[in-house]
Amino acid sequence: MHKEHVYLGLGSNLGESEETLHRAFDAINNIEDTRLLRKSSLYSSTPMGPQDQPDYVNAVCLIETALKPHSLLKQLQAIELAYGRERKGERWGPRTLDLDILLYGAESVATTDLIIPHSGMSQREFVLVPLFEIAPNMIMPDGKPIAQWVANCTLDGLRRLRTSN
Ligand code: ATP
Ligand code: CA
Ligand code: CA
Ligand code: CA
Repeated sequence: MHKEHVYLGLGSNLGESEETLHRAFDAINNIEDTRLLRKSSLYSSTPMGPQDQPDYVNAVCLIETALKPHSLLKQLQAIELAYGRERKGERWGPRTLDLDILLYGAESVATTDLIIPHSGMSQREFVLVPLFEIAPNMIMPDGKPIAQWVANCTLDGLRRLRTSN
């Protein structure tokens, strides 16, 4: 069975966020034909967009999966729902669990409901710093080393949580 290496971004800022992310790692590992290979520490970050919401807890992980990108997205959305995610109108509003597909092997996807590489990742320190932690030598889609992407983002509001892993 052909398997791809896929990086996922996790975020939560409602409920017991640290506990939710630890359980989300297990839920991801339990997706059919999918295995969790590596996970980052948990990080605390100040919210993007609307500021009247709690700080986020963020992390990333590396999985190996035989699922195609859209099937994987469906499974991730089912996990979000299982953890109480409510989809409201507001973009970047508070949520119990957010699971994004950051990179899917070397593939690009550009459909109405799925864009890979994830469109926000190049500017988001709460994605790049944990990614750099688990894949310090990674070459990004533009051919540059991840260290250069990290060097180009501001690290304001990001903090590694010592209690994690
Ligand atoms: P952002 O995508 O900027 O981080 P968000 O995570 O808050 O914002 P959501 O409300 O969780 O956005 O998702 C909106 C839609 O984004 C989803 O319904 C999904 O179809 C779509 N989407 C597009 N590309 C991706 C991707 N790479 N991973 C996850 N969802 C994606
Ligand atoms: Ca997101
Ligand atoms: Ca999302
Ligand atoms: Ca920043």
